Order: sequence, then C-alpha cells, then structure tokens
Amino acid sequence: MAKVGKSVIYGSNWVEEAFAGCEPLLLKRIRGLVEIESPSDDKQAVDRCAEAVAEMALVMGGRVRRHRRKKFGDGLELRFAGRVRGGEKLAPLMLLGHLDTVWPMGTLGMMPFRVAKGRAWGPGVLDMKAGVAMGLTAVEVLRQGDGLEREVIFLLTGDEEIGSTGSRVLTEKLARGCSAVFVLEPAQGLKGAYKTARKGVGGYVLRVTGVAAHAGVDFERGHSAIAELAWQLEKVRGFTELDRGLTVNAGVIRGGTRTNVVAAEAEAEIDVRIARAKDAGRIERKFRGLRVRDRSCVLHVEGGMNRPPMERSRATAALFHRAATLARGMGLELTEAATGGGSDGNFTAALGVATLDGMGAVGEGAHASHESVLLKDLVPRTALLAEMIRTS
Ligand SMILES: [Zn+2]
Repeated sequence: MAKVGKSVIYGSNWVEEAFAGCEPLLLKRIRGLVEIESPSDDKQAVDRCAEAVAEMALVMGGRVRRHRRKKFGDGLELRFAGRVRGGEKLAPLMLLGHLDTVWPMGTLGMMPFRVAKGRAWGPGVLDMKAGVAMGLTAVEVLRQGDGLEREVIFLLTGDEEIGSTGSRVLTEKLARGCSAVFVLEPAQGLKGAYKTARKGVGGYVLRVTGVAAHAGVDFERGHSAIAELAWQLEKVRGFTELDRGLTVNAGVIRGGTRTNVVAAEAEAEIDVRIARAKDAGRIERKFRGLRVRDRSCVLHVEGGMNRPPMERSRATAALFHRAATLARGMGLELTEAATGGGSDGNFTAALGVATLDGMGAVGEGAHASHESVLLKDLVPRTALLAEMIRTS
C-alpha cells in the first residue's frame, strides 16, 4: 500500500508532494457532492449537483458547458486545457462519470454522510461521487504542477443509472475525438480491480393478449395469456448460453385478474446480458422470432439492446498494463476484472476508443444501504489516476 504524507507515493516528486495530505480536501468534496442528493428521476436535483461541480471546475480554471435536457439531468462538459506546446495539438483525454444516483430524494435522512470505521458512507458515495471528486482533484493537482499535457474533457452525465438514453449521443460524440477514456466508476471489489470488460445490457418486454372467459362456465372459450406467456418464457430461458457469457433473465412478470378468469393479459420484463458484440444480432433475431403457440393469442415483443458490451480490446489491455506498472511503482498491486454490469464506458469502448473503467473509488455496497468507500485507497487511487492522465 502506498504511504501518504512524508513517505514516497511515487517517483515524480512534485506530484508526491501535492498529493500528500490531500485526503481532507477529497473528503470535503465527496461530502459536498453526497449531500446534494441527485436521483436520476429528479431532474432539478441532478442539475443542482451539476451546478456544484460546475462551480468547482470554474474555480479550477476549467471551461464549463451545460448540455440541457428536458427530462433528465443536464450533461456537464468540463474542459481543462493542457500545456501549450509549439503548435502541435494532442487529442484530448476523456474522463467519464455520472452525477445521478439510484437513491430517492430523502435517503440522506436515513443514511447521512459520515466517516467511520475507515470508510466514508452515504448514498451515491461509491457510485460515483467519490470518483467525481477524485477526477477533479487529480486534474487540479496536475494543472498546478504543470503536468497536464493533453486537454482533459471531463464529461458527467445525468441519466446513467436509467440507461443513458438522453446522454449517449453526446458521450459518443465527445469520445470520438479523444485519445482514451478513463471511466471513474467504482473499482471492482475491495481489492479495487480496474474493469477491462463489461457486459452489454438489453431489455425486452413480452406482452401477450389472450381471450378472457369464465374459468368455470366457459373454460373452453378462453385462451389464457398466462399459459401462453409461460410457454414463451420457457423458450426464452433456453436463449441463455453461459459459455458465451450470454444470459437472459425474466425478472418481472404480471398478468391475470382473478383465479376464476382465464387471463386475457400477461407480460414479462426480461434482462439480457452479452459479453460479445456480435451476440446482439443473434439475441435480437431470437426474440423477434418468437411465435405464439395458441393462435388465438397475440404476442408483442418490444425492446432491444441498450448498451453494447465493452470487450477487452488490445487498446484497453494496454491501458491496464500501463496502470499496473505505474501502480507497482507506487507500491500498489493492481488487478483487472470483468463485470456483468454496464456503464457509459460501454458506449465509448464500442466506438473503438481505448477505454479503461473502474478508475474511481474502492469500496462496496453500490446501490445498497452499506454503500461506502475505503479511506485508505482514496489518495493512492487519485494519485494513480493523476499519473495515468499525466502519462497519456
Ligand atoms: Zn455508476
């Protein structure tokens, strides 16, 4: 573990000095962000959080652009100029994160921000307000030390937890011109692995309309939507191919009205995860190919893939290897991991832009009541992030 303070964090002296004793500042920023609650479905709340981050960026000498959204939280594009060098302009580097959380307004009352047992706790602290504070602080320190070679575009979306439908186009547009994307989502597990692969995520709804009838008097006239849906779901269950990392889960089911009525309506919501981009078409064809067994029923299939997978490309592996080498120099051991969850990094990776994810805080309990970040990793991980930016 890297030592902070008088001991060496890593070779570059001025950065070492700059990060020593940086924990109180990081904690102050994290607290500030956690205490502005920002549930994805509350635009005004997410915008308040964006406002606070924009103010911090302006103080740091950054440029701020708000991308207005009607329904979701605004997108926040922060730009920090790199060092000016004889005419030649390097492609910018992107830091990517989100300001929305899964926590409803008022959660702070039950789960207030606090520091205890070597951790900081609170709604959204790990996913991912600590990551936002780390990104800002890393850039700030680099700029003070004249260590920012490339321009940094720090993009913060406001609808990541609900699928990023409003922000995806902007994320892709900005990422296209960047040399690499560092995603400040939490690292994996308490050892804090960086994420080099993420599954793609999709969702389908199967909706069946049958023919209602009295289950006692008129049974034979009925065509049960529930029976038809059950049959369809058994087929859908067979779409899972574990060896390909392809899973299909019917997680929600509804239908029927009373036990003595043959059900006229039934529907199921299905989650799909794919590890390989080429499986998107394969699974789409399978869902669209579903046909009713009972011809008196009607089946509607809606949905599709939402996020493409982030496959472990050569470019991502190269970024990870650089990070692991830098970490070793700091006395840290850094591992990599693949995860089934998606992030906005899925979009940038799918464009072919080198993307490394999980570069934010180390902790556990994202989306759960024990959400927390480890204090001991805050400064070393921020320093590692800064080194990754500096050497990009
Ligand atoms: Zn997140």
